[in-house]
Amino acid sequence: MITIPELYKIYQQYPSVQTDTRALKKGDLYFALKGPNFNGNDFARAALEAGAAFAIVDEPPATPDERILIVEDVLSTLQHLAKHHREQFDIPFIAITGSNGKTTTKELVSTVLAAKYKTYTTQGNLNNHIGVPLTLLRIKADAEMAVIEMGANHQKEIESYCFYTLPTHGIITNAGKAHLEGFGGIEGVRKGKGELFDYLRAHNGTAFVMWDYDYLQTMSKGIPSIIRYGTSNADCTGEVAQSEPFLSVNITSGQPFTIQSKLVGAYNLPNILVAVAIGQYFGVSNEAIQSAIGNYTPSNSRSQLKTIGTNSFILDAYNANPSSMRAAIENFASLKGNDKVLMLGGMMELGPESLQEHQQIIELIKKYNWKAVVLVGGDFRKLAHPFISLENSTAAKEWLTQQNFEHTNLLIKGSRSMQMEKVL
Ligand code: ATP
Ligand code: MG
Repeated sequence: MITIPELYKIYQQYPSVQTDTRALKKGDLYFALKGPNFNGNDFARAALEAGAAFAIVDEPPATPDERILIVEDVLSTLQHLAKHHREQFDIPFIAITGSNGKTTTKELVSTVLAAKYKTYTTQGNLNNHIGVPLTLLRIKADAEMAVIEMGANHQKEIESYCFYTLPTHGIITNAGKAHLEGFGGIEGVRKGKGELFDYLRAHNGTAFVMWDYDYLQTMSKGIPSIIRYGTSNADCTGEVAQSEPFLSVNITSGQPFTIQSKLVGAYNLPNILVAVAIGQYFGVSNEAIQSAIGNYTPSNSRSQLKTIGTNSFILDAYNANPSSMRAAIENFASLKGNDKVLMLGGMMELGPESLQEHQQIIELIKKYNWKAVVLVGGDFRKLAHPFISLENSTAAKEWLTQQNFEHTNLLIKGSRSMQMEKVL
């Protein structure tokens, strides 16, 4: 069986790692991963035919081939190879986890750092046990900074990412009500996300901590170096200057300046603040920070503002959990204007607390005046409420088409599987 150092030599010659034969290019290293519905080992031959330099498998092939390398476990090999590669770099590795805002924060932090440093970062949302090692393996020799998003829905997951990412710096954006099912309640979420701080504490790391959140202050105790950000009493402070149509933020620490962003929603304030804090910490000028954040446009249905005819939409259909749902509703309610329509899809992965969490969102909605409220699918369907109840996003789209709204503002949000973006 091939060892990690041996495999690393091959990787250095063929540094493009691929796990999907359909996306394979000539000279790629194919890793035959297994999923619930597929076994990558079955595609090793096809991968070679498609041009893969080598295929790494954990089931012996029917016909041996010197380009088929057998290992004990392909996933674990991928992770160990990633670790070996990571160890070649003596640069900051900034890990980002949290319940909400990881991708937004990752993008803001990396655009800010990219103004001064060659920065490598997670592509899209590749933040799991496969995405994190693949991200590490994409880092090239010219790297000066690495920014790695880590997603988790159960205990010990962040700990395992830290094992091969070896982060030097870290951010927990927040620890709220998301993935309650896998973590076992809010305390479980904090413990699970806290594994990043545990690692930094044990490895002389630096944490960037949102000082407005008491629980993050508590969680960060004992980390050798802490940079605080928040609305007050912190190293980097700022506040919302204006929240519509787009968020602008006044930085109030040091030499004050204002950032005009293209982000929607005051809940992006901490995401912007930490990008400023990190930029300043690593010596990026305020001018460069201001323009990097100002030029960043979100994608993938994350808090996007769209205008169709006379109506405007906040499309936030990328995901939803009780914390982000609450933030989005409160933010929308605070915006100017009266003609507001909520179209909210159900929230997934909440376990035994799911009905109660949906009920609390219903109670929150009742506090404000809306032109219409449409609740779509999930556990909303199991609860009694005075709002329009529809089965799925297709029905929601039909409903919306029939309304012929004019001069109306709509918030569209729901869990990923609800596919609320289909409404538009
Ligand atoms: P995922 O778990 O899917 O990777 P994520 O943590 O990367 O999600 P983003 O994709 O950045 O999060 O943002 C998703 C949504 O979370 C946003 O559209 C917004 O509704 C909400 N959100 C973003 N930042 C915050 C925040 N700081 N606090 C609360 N909600 C937020
Ligand atoms: Mg993400």
